[in-house]
Order: sequence, then structure tokens, then C-alpha cells
Amino acid sequence: MRDLFPQDLIKRWDDALKRSERIVLSTHMNPDGDAVGSLMGLGLFLRQLGFRVSMVCPSPYPGFLKFLDPDREILVFSRNREEVIQKITEADTIIAVDVSSFSRMEELGEILEDKKAFRVLMDHHIDPDSEGFDLVFSTTKISSSCELVYRVLKLWRPESVILKEQAVAFLTGIITDTNQFANSVYPETFNVTSELTACGANTEDIFDKVYRNFSYNRMRLMGYALQNIRLLPQYNAGYIVLTRDVLEEFGYRNGDTEGFVNFPLAITGISVSAFFLQREDHIKVSLRSKGKIAVNGIAKDFFNGGGHYNASAGKMEDAVDKIEELLKKALGTIIA
Ligand code: 5GP
Ligand code: MN
Repeated sequence: MRDLFPQDLIKRWDDALKRSERIVLSTHMNPDGDAVGSLMGLGLFLRQLGFRVSMVCPSPYPGFLKFLDPDREILVFSRNREEVIQKITEADTIIAVDVSSFSRMEELGEILEDKKAFRVLMDHHIDPDSEGFDLVFSTTKISSSCELVYRVLKLWRPESVILKEQAVAFLTGIITDTNQFANSVYPETFNVTSELTACGANTEDIFDKVYRNFSYNRMRLMGYALQNIRLLPQYNAGYIVLTRDVLEEFGYRNGDTEGFVNFPLAITGISVSAFFLQREDHIKVSLRSKGKIAVNGIAKDFFNGGGHYNASAGKMEDAVDKIEELLKKALGTIIA
């Protein structure tokens, strides 16, 4: 496998960790499989080497990812402010994973940004905030942050054993961020998958936990979402809106709509899809596309967000009845 990062970068990481004792790992709001996988995989590996590591995230992660954190070690800032602030105060090193800047951690990001510590970024999003960190491991040409972190660890400590729990965490991030090996897959992705499998990670177990572990309510909400796909054939687009009333009716829990944004893309001829989730004070917008159509531009220009070429997100402050109008305006700029 080709080296992902040059040896001098690995040397700087090694030097920094030699001076380090207490490390805080953090990630983005509404953590997904890649975020939780990177936190746990890296955190457990560093602990195995003797570092004191705290894993924190700004807001709770969805229930189906609890299998990656069986002892509930990840501290959630929105629920446990004091303890998180204490860990940050004690830390000498901060490592941000699966996030391109402190700003995507909201208030937790402000606290981390104010803290005097050595800062490392390990991420695969576009436009990393390189200024805000002392050491940056970043590339978009990779499946996931989990793959990136794993490959940095292998370059740093080629002889160290990756324990099964770490391998499961990393492979979960690869599987979820690639949408089950459909997007952002490179030859190395399979090499790493093969290595993680050899370390004890089992793809069928992960699939069972992530994709065959739905509550009855989540399954019914999925039925509603499928029944209510709206098409915009002139833009080869489809979208789904879930209002707060609907979410309440189906007993919505955080993470229940994971993957719903992909449904319209399964319809023949549809190349762009959008998913709108009404929250208390805004509407969360997720965008996906196929092939050469980029959605990160409209995420930035119309929905105050950003992301990857084929998978982006943002939000809108307008009322639900303004969704279609705004979406058409946005799509008009990318679909002739
Ligand atoms: P999702 O639809 O899964 O929530 O987000 C898709 C992708 O969009 C994420 O992997 C992330 O890269 C990006 N993203 C989500 N929210 C934001 C945001 O508020 N700002 C930016 N710049 N990117 C975002
Ligand atoms: Mn990711």
C-alpha cells in the first residue's frame, strides 16, 4: 500500500506524542459512524500505548452506534459539560477527527479553540482549517476518517497490534461513510478492510448492528419517508421532507433517519436527492448526488453548509412550505 503521508509528518506526530500524556479526542456535531469509529478506534489504540485519553463529542451519537462504545466512555458535551471541560483543562494534546474545523463543533469547538494545547487534525473533508492546527493529516482521496486514522497509526507503529474492538470501530466508519462500499472507495479501502478483517472485525456483525437493528418505529418512519418521496423530474431530483409533527407521530429518536437521504437515488433517472428534517429552530438539509453532479456548492451557497462532492449538508431557517422553492432555485444552478 502506498504511504498516505510522508515520513516527516509521521515524525512530527511521534515527537508531539512523546511530549504528551493527556489527550482529548473530539469530533463533529451529530456524530456518525465514521466520527464514533475514529474516536473509539484511535482512543483505544492510544490507551493501549499508555496515554490517558478522553473521547468527547459535542452532541449525542445515535443509539445504533452504542455497540462501538459498550462502556459508555464517550463523553457528550451537551449532557456532561463540566466533565468535558475538566478533561479539556487537563489535556496537553487535542486531536480532532472527522471534522474540518473547530467551528463544526459549535460551543465545544470554542472551548477547544481557546485551550492552549498541541492540536492535531485528522480528517477527509475539503477545506480543512489548517491554520487552526499544529499538525494536519488531511486528504479527500480516501474512504473515511477511520481509514485515514488507521493508516496513520500503521505508519507510526507498524508493529503494534490492532485489537478487535479497534478494528470493528475503524471498519464501521469505512462501511458507513462509503455507504456500504458504494462511494469514495479506492483500492486501498479494500486493503485496509482486509487488514481489519484479519484483526477480528466481522462485516456481517457490523451489518447486523448498523443496518439490521431498527426499532419498529424507525421502520415505520422509513415507510412514511418512502411513501412521501417528491420528484422534480425536470432536475432529475427527488426529495423527502419530515416535519416535526410526523417525527412525533413515529416516536422519532436521534439517528432514526440515517440513510433516508439516499432513498430517492434508488429511483431510475434520479441523480440528486435532498432530505429535509425539521428540527426545533431550523431545518436540517442533507444532499446526495451521483457521478459528476456536485452538491457541495449548493450546500454552501443555499443552505449555509458544505461537505463532499456527492454528499453534503447544511440547514435552512425558512418555513417548511418554502422548501421546494429554495430547492428548485438551488438545483437550477447545477442542472441545466
Ligand atoms: P449528512 O447529510 O450525513 O448530515 O452530511 C453529509 C456530509 O456533509 C457530512 O459528511 C459532512 O461532510 C458535511 N456536512 C454536514 N453538515 C455540514 C455543515 O454544517 N457544514 C459543512 N461545511 N459540512 C457539513
Ligand atoms: Mn467521515
